[in-house]
Amino acid sequence: MINVPLLQIIMSRRIHARRTEGVDKNVWNEFTQLAADYKAVNLGHGFPDFSPPKFVQEAFCDAVNGGAQMHQYTRVFGHPRLVQSLATFFSRVTGHEIDPLEDVLVTVGAYQALFCAFQALIDEGDEVIIVEPYFNCYQTMVKMVGGKEVYVPLRPKVEESQSSAVWTLSAEELASKFTPRTKAIVINTPNNPLGKVYKTEELQMIADLCIKHDVLCISDEVYEWLTYDGNKHVKIASLPSMWERTITIGSGGKTFSATGWKVGWVISSGHIIKHMKTIFKNSVYHCPTAAQEAVACAFEREYKLFGSPESYFQQLPAMLHHRRRKLASCLQSVGLQPIMPEGGYFMIADISSVKVDFNDDSTKDESYDCRFVKWLTKEKGLATIPVSIFYSPEHRKEFDKYVRFCFVKEEATLDAAEQILRKWSQGK
Ligand code: PMP
Ligand code: GLN
Repeated sequence: MINVPLLQIIMSRRIHARRTEGVDKNVWNEFTQLAADYKAVNLGHGFPDFSPPKFVQEAFCDAVNGGAQMHQYTRVFGHPRLVQSLATFFSRVTGHEIDPLEDVLVTVGAYQALFCAFQALIDEGDEVIIVEPYFNCYQTMVKMVGGKEVYVPLRPKVEESQSSAVWTLSAEELASKFTPRTKAIVINTPNNPLGKVYKTEELQMIADLCIKHDVLCISDEVYEWLTYDGNKHVKIASLPSMWERTITIGSGGKTFSATGWKVGWVISSGHIIKHMKTIFKNSVYHCPTAAQEAVACAFEREYKLFGSPESYFQQLPAMLHHRRRKLASCLQSVGLQPIMPEGGYFMIADISSVKVDFNDDSTKDESYDCRFVKWLTKEKGLATIPVSIFYSPEHRKEFDKYVRFCFVKEEATLDAAEQILRKWSQGK
């Protein structure tokens, strides 16, 4: 039975903690729900709608069938086999000897790795430079620790931008954002949503500023294996004097097309990781054992096949390269201007040349791209994501004529999207 006086007492005071203020709205919930409500073809949310490769699925089945210990707790900061395989693999990639027990932390997806980084390293009043467009949880996670976000946008160098490569940071503008309060900078390469893959010179420019101002670099590299047209992913941690100050974040979900497993990791110097471990052990404490075992096995296989045509890190980008081209030509044929991504899951397209009468009062106060995405989902049955959500309020208006499409989808899904776009362009 409800105790009414007690309920009244509870309700008469502020229930929520202040850190929940201003971060309650989540655009992913809103746009994912909209896609579901209208049963739209979904090029919105970034996940593969195809299965992971057989060896990955088998690794998971083998783990589940691997005996009692696979169903019990494992080492708190990462299953021994996984931290070992991550250390071995990434020592080879970075050329730095990574200690599996000191320099690696396994988390519940890259998302939790980011959360642990901000919680462990940012204090109230610290400034965090965020490069735009950015995966939007960086903003809310900085807010939750009382940090101050400082934004700097990538901008297209030329007006007619056809590739993410022409979107660059102004070195002067970036340098002007560093102050004595700057604690960290967050970068994301390959970038979500733009698909930019930073070149070594660009990373060196960022690294020089980090070193000059004694600032940490949080480098979100969840799409590291997905680069196209000969572009190469470079780890900022591998540049001189950057290992000691870089927090590199990865995702088993993105690496092996199994986003639902939610296995992520952080690789960094032990003197940084130890603080993230403190947050981790006082919150989640432990990630599911079987999923960690499966990611470990998949990495061991990739280690053996590294650089060969059988490697999934070769096969997945090769497959997606084709789908990316298919989506780009479809967008072009209906008058949208795609910006060819150098890497990642997504392609953004300029929608400014298409004229749409939204005729929807419920969205009249929203930005142009949000109205467009809602209209396309509701009226045409195609779900996408507005790009302005990846910008700060101060820069949003400058970038509200782009929409993000995810091409990590079955051919059939891309065909269905193409049909919708063609019909629309023919006025049907
Ligand atoms: N960073 C970026 C740039 C992302 O796009 C995502 C979404 N997958 C994440 C982090 C979170 O990754 P995970 O699914 O491993 O938590
Ligand atoms: N990274 C994915 C995207 O950008 C998933 C987002 C999420 O899960 N919040 O679509």
